Amino acid sequence: MGKQTAEAGATPAAVQQRGFTRELEERLLRYVRIDTQSDDSSATSPSTARQYDLLNLLVEELRSMGAQDVRLTGYGVVLATIPPTVPADCPVIALLAHVDTAPAFNATGVKPIVHRNYDGADIVLPDEPGVVLSPSQFPYLAAKVGDDIVTASGTTLLGADDKAGVAIVMTAVRHLLENPGLAHGPLRVAFTPDEEIGRGVHSSLPADLGADVAYTLDGAGLGEIVFETFSADRADVHVKGVSIHPGQAKDKLVNALHLAAKILDTLPHVTLTPETTEGRQGFIHAYQLNGTAAAADLHFALRDFELQGLRERGELVTKICAAIEATEPRARITCSITPQYRNMRYWLEDDMRPVDLARESCRRIGIEPFTQPIRGGTDGSRLTEMGVPTPNLFTGMQNIHGPHEWVSLQDMAHATAMCVKLAELWAGERRGAAARRATPLEAAPVDWAG
Ligand SMILES: [Zn+2]
Repeated sequence: MGKQTAEAGATPAAVQQRGFTRELEERLLRYVRIDTQSDDSSATSPSTARQYDLLNLLVEELRSMGAQDVRLTGYGVVLATIPPTVPADCPVIALLAHVDTAPAFNATGVKPIVHRNYDGADIVLPDEPGVVLSPSQFPYLAAKVGDDIVTASGTTLLGADDKAGVAIVMTAVRHLLENPGLAHGPLRVAFTPDEEIGRGVHSSLPADLGADVAYTLDGAGLGEIVFETFSADRADVHVKGVSIHPGQAKDKLVNALHLAAKILDTLPHVTLTPETTEGRQGFIHAYQLNGTAAAADLHFALRDFELQGLRERGELVTKICAAIEATEPRARITCSITPQYRNMRYWLEDDMRPVDLARESCRRIGIEPFTQPIRGGTDGSRLTEMGVPTPNLFTGMQNIHGPHEWVSLQDMAHATAMCVKLAELWAGERRGAAARRATPLEAAPVDWAG
């Protein structure tokens, strides 16, 4: 069958998909070239001024496509409204994506490459020929033969995390604004900074967003819908020793570094660490140690899917600190536990409509949705806790935060179609309608493939 015949016989959905794919490519390639890396060590908000390069561009683009109430907040979030096309009192839904890229890898000078109609072979990235994307190493890639694959050039990350999400939201919004015949309620859009350093949700965001339900477009493989994340606390340990000149130290020096090392050594090594756990198991992650003989600081990430497990992680660190302190009465060891974010399932189980409608919109575009708990948090974890239920939806992004990052434009086009469908499905709901609770089956632990 010739190409023309295929085009002539294409379904409206296929034509729409091709239109989305072209627009997504144009947007993604433009957005990833803008360096928006966030910086954990910065105290400002947003953490880096370069994030404004994309935030300001999105303000302009939203205004020129006809979105309303477009503004950039003082804390660096772009907000906009897409007015409803139906008169009904339906819930306000929001679509979110983050503009920053991870500090974990070089993000300057990204050169995106489109590998059109992927043939299933190894993809060698030209600027660092040792960096090879091989379908045997990355099975998801093997499933994308025929798709248009976007990669970086080998020396940088791509930044599909989360510019794929930004491009998807922008394309869906442009499509809705240009097609007022499509039914949807009031829609809000937010582009946030600093998600990668855990500072994406400002305390004013829920009120400024003004949404009943939100979705982050920050997930991975086709069909993935996440409504379960880790619960997270941080443990900060301070060890105060006794400092003295080493030449006169006999029976006087209490070395904080040795005590810090003892704490690390006493904590579990062959269990309860990130490198020895998977699936639904929690962990204690020692991620930072600094100090001198006089004083040392240790920082731990505590993670578990259940609050009981999370409490136990904190108690273990606290007990070990007390035990080490007891071995050296002249030392002072303190341990403080700070809550970070909570598993969004606790809130979503009380009203599963945000998840159910996401699943339904996925099925309506011909994709079978799947759910798995993620061993991390999202901006949606915090937003959900603050009263705006916010599941995370797929974008297609793969191998994020490094040179092997890639995304399929066709996956992104499906995500765009899902957003449009989701807006339509929410138009059939009413504000204040009865919540739909999770059935016991859904509330039970989801199988984890890890
Ligand atoms: Zn992300």
